[in-house]
Amino acid sequence: MEQINARSILSPATGFIRRGGFDWTCNPYVGCSFGCTYCYAMFLPQNRRPREDWGKWFQAKINALELARRQAPKVAGRSVYLSSVTDPYLPAERSLGLTRGILEALLPYQPRLLVQTRGPLVARDLDVLVRFRSVRVNLSIPTDSESVRRAFEPKAPSLEPRWQALDRVRAAGVSTGICITPMLPLENADGFVRRIAAFAPDVVVTQHFHDSGGGFGADTGLAARSLLARNRWTEDDYRRCLAMLRDRRTVYEAEAGFFPPS
Ligand code: SF4
Repeated sequence: MEQINARSILSPATGFIRRGGFDWTCNPYVGCSFGCTYCYAMFLPQNRRPREDWGKWFQAKINALELARRQAPKVAGRSVYLSSVTDPYLPAERSLGLTRGILEALLPYQPRLLVQTRGPLVARDLDVLVRFRSVRVNLSIPTDSESVRRAFEPKAPSLEPRWQALDRVRAAGVSTGICITPMLPLENADGFVRRIAAFAPDVVVTQHFHDSGGGFGADTGLAARSLLARNRWTEDDYRRCLAMLRDRRTVYEAEAGFFPPS
């Protein structure tokens, strides 16, 4: 891990996040140690390192708290997406506490806040999160299979701790979302659908991989494309599971599902 001094901790929202209605994005880290094979952030121009090194490096914005205290008034009455090009609950967050410090700095200004993560560590900060009047925590749970998760997201947290974190978020009275974006190959589609329907999160978002040939904004890098082929997972499989989910509840697809909490 490297430590850097950033110029800013809040950036104007762009792309699908802006279109979804967010004003600001907040990224306490640059790069991401979870290293998902399909991550679009590896294609961003600011991440200049070789794509095959994605997940092997990250930088902590060590002045994040000082910046957040200074910039927090900007978020009053606005919406914030935390985080768009990293995960705010990387393992390093346990000791660094950058995300927690940012939350504490934003709290007096009460933005509408979306926390987007694969990290069960988010449950640590529920004491702060419950004090936001408008907040949703989205956990990414893209499959029911640990072996698939290990193949596509080798350094991300296991799936059950994510479900347990969702339970704790719900129990604290905070709005929940489940992101299946992209949907990874499933072992038991019916069981996966039943589990999501039974949990009944406030928002469910799904997406199939899209292939823009490894270009900017792609969801599907070469490694993920070959894993998909090996698992014989196709868009038809995705569509079948989406239809099963839609038989049971409202499901948003792709960027339509990324909007601020009300
Ligand atoms: S957790 Fe998010 S930002 Fe990190 S590698 Fe995975 S998809 Fe990318």
